[in-house]
Amino acid sequence: DFEVTLSYASKDELGELSVAIQKLAKDLELLKKERNEFLASISHELSTPLTYLIGYAKVAMRKELDEKKRDHYLSIIAEEADGMKDLVKDLLDLAKIDENSFTVNKENFLSQPFLDNIFKLVGPSFLNKGLKLDFESKENFQIFADPLRLQQIVLNLLDNALKYTNNGKKVRLEAYSLNGRAVISVSDEGIGIPSDEIEFIFDRLYRVEKSRSRIYGGSGIGLSVVKELVEAHGGTIEVASKLGEGSTFKLMI
Ligand code: ADP
Repeated sequence: DFEVTLSYASKDELGELSVAIQKLAKDLELLKKERNEFLASISHELSTPLTYLIGYAKVAMRKELDEKKRDHYLSIIAEEADGMKDLVKDLLDLAKIDENSFTVNKENFLSQPFLDNIFKLVGPSFLNKGLKLDFESKENFQIFADPLRLQQIVLNLLDNALKYTNNGKKVRLEAYSLNGRAVISVSDEGIGIPSDEIEFIFDRLYRVEKSRSRIYGGSGIGLSVVKELVEAHGGTIEVASKLGEGSTFKLMI
């Protein structure tokens, strides 16, 4: 079939074909490079906490250790392992999204119980850090979305607000309905995002300054998953931020 088509192709068409093939080869090469860089970063993200985990496990096994110290090391191990679990979960989601085997099961549910549950889940972490979490929602409206995925989205935003806001400050969760869609926003009084970096924060593995992530942790995966999940719903997400003053993430679903 291919040969028959070619025999009818003019010289110009053959030239175009050759350019197209060369471009395709270049794109493939770039994809390969990106994939390798992605794998290298992920391996690094997983091996760093693993190194801590092994280290602390070995220390915790020492016979002479008192119980308090052992508990302390065990709690660090649990915390590191939790972070790794979240990262692996995000990675699996990204893989599913890339394979198009990702499904969003939309249903109708009420905003109030949904948000109450989220509040219950994150409350203790905010309390532990001495952060105030304000919750404002005057109405109990219908949301049409995948409840588990929407929970994942909001938890991710709250998790970032918690991570990038210092003790004593405030985070605000707001929800209302607009033209039949649900609007949920998370505002913080945290460290903010530099204006020239804001366009990249939804990119895979993008982190604002490497030094920041050393202090605050994080892999740069969370927001890329959030964006994909929001888009899979046919929704939108936007961010407004001022360095040193805070950020607001607003999603419409
Ligand atoms: P990470 O796991 O590093 O937090 P994300 O994809 O969730 O990755 O976020 C990407 C980057 O965007 C982060 O490294 C952080 O610098 C910045 N960022 C995200 N949320 C906030 C926020 N609420 N306040 C300040 N910076 C934020």
